[in-house]
Amino acid sequence: MSTTPRAFAAVTLGVAAALTVSAAPASAAERFTPGAPGAGDPYFPDMGNGGYDVAHYDVGLKYDPATKGIRAVTKIKARATQNLSRFNLDFLGPLTISSLKVDGHKASFKRTGAQELVITPRKGLRKHRHFTVTVAYSGVPQPINDATLGTSGWIPTADGAVMVNQPFGAATVYPVNDHPTDKATYTFTLTAPKGHTTLSNGDLRGTSTKGGWTTTRWVMRHPMASELSMLAIGKYDVITGRTGDGVPNLTATDRAQGVTPEDAQKFHRQTAEIQDFQASLYGRYPFTSTGGIVVKGGFGYALETQGRPVYDLGRRPGAIPSGSLVAHELGHQWFGDSVTPERWADIWMNEGFATYSEWLYAEKFEGTPVQESFDAVYATPADDGLWKGVVSDPGRDHIFDGLVYDRGAMAVHVLRQTIGENAFYRLLREWPATYRYGNASTEDLVRFAERLSHKKLDAWADAWLYSEGKPSV
Ligand SMILES: [Zn+2]
Repeated sequence: MSTTPRAFAAVTLGVAAALTVSAAPASAAERFTPGAPGAGDPYFPDMGNGGYDVAHYDVGLKYDPATKGIRAVTKIKARATQNLSRFNLDFLGPLTISSLKVDGHKASFKRTGAQELVITPRKGLRKHRHFTVTVAYSGVPQPINDATLGTSGWIPTADGAVMVNQPFGAATVYPVNDHPTDKATYTFTLTAPKGHTTLSNGDLRGTSTKGGWTTTRWVMRHPMASELSMLAIGKYDVITGRTGDGVPNLTATDRAQGVTPEDAQKFHRQTAEIQDFQASLYGRYPFTSTGGIVVKGGFGYALETQGRPVYDLGRRPGAIPSGSLVAHELGHQWFGDSVTPERWADIWMNEGFATYSEWLYAEKFEGTPVQESFDAVYATPADDGLWKGVVSDPGRDHIFDGLVYDRGAMAVHVLRQTIGENAFYRLLREWPATYRYGNASTEDLVRFAERLSHKKLDAWADAWLYSEGKPSV
């Protein structure tokens, strides 16, 4: 859920209308305008929409291996943030909508542009009004293959599918307000033939089998960005338990990946151990369950999907994630998932702290001092591509490049040296606590660190976040 005021074009119009209220209060107040078709993110102008705030997604999805297709009904509970004549959702790809209702009444809709589902309810939706959108649809979802950002969305596997959504992808599976600033709670109700495993974010709240089909219901009861929603359907070996802190831990490995039972146990144990270690540094784990899913999806990356990261190690049969990779994805649960960047340009706040989580892991579990990890990357020559670009604004096609990871982590380490150990360890706990389940910007972090440390940090921020080139230390 978003509490952040955003500069939508439509909101601006609303303000203009409000300014004329003194002349004609009644008619101005009754004015209904379309919600904006984007959330205002400069990197992804089509992503997200304006005019409403989603509270909850309820995605009911049945997967049929015979067709590799889905039948689904997604219910969205939202609240209007302006008087809405119409509004958009993001919905992408070949799925066919059979029915669309707003508050139980048929609404007209059309699909335009890259991913806009434009919905016109029978009557305008007054500001602050709660409403429900119910969309029924079916077909064979297709992944997004972006030239620079890779594969995301619904990704078919040999016996099912995986959904990983960063930065976009959710819209290939369900209609969504697809920008991280509109977080919401989720229920995924997943049906597949008996013998298939269905997995998602959050807590398993029910399993039932009827007529050869098994349904599982997963609840994520803390706000989640759509880019962090996940599902996996296929044949998995599942291990359940608890971390030392008592957090329910569910790990799963795709049988096609060929992980030995011993390695599956090791992955499960390591997930618990690393998370407990991170909770001792970053404060209470923000979600109600944890875990990880080793998939065989062929997309070749791991993703910090909320409460339960996804690891694709398909090119290394039998492999489980390294402790370092687990530390990276679990570190994201505080940095990226619970506290999510305001705009995609701020993604170093995810990747810098997640990479720093690897360094802290290496120090604790492998005996490599953090300073050594820093020195190894800092040794990169000044004319190397690593130092090109601006960490806090890498550009749309570079949000997964080395600068946001390695220079991000180095920025964190130099911040530590600048504000001192005490303030730094307080920051590691107090930042995720203060912005828990919300969004924040680079500027927010700089100001927060200044308030906490009573130090001016302009020089640090300029050198490490806002400028190109290799800073001196
Ligand atoms: Zn990451």
